[in-house]
Amino acid sequence: MTVVRQCPRCELRFRDDAELRAHLVDDHGVDPESLEHRYRGDADDPPSSGTAR
Ligand SMILES: [Zn+2]
Repeated sequence: MTVVRQCPRCELRFRDDAELRAHLVDDHGVDPESLEHRYRGDADDPPSSGTAR
């Protein structure tokens, strides 16, 4: 079983999320926090919650 994650921004492929993330952050200057949000799904952050912003 070979699961390959391809970088959404270039042709490179990685064998696990950690490497892909490191590459995104390192080579593309992507904010790791935004990646976390994406992997978790947006259900984690309901827009109508009463949290102070
Ligand atoms: Zn890339």
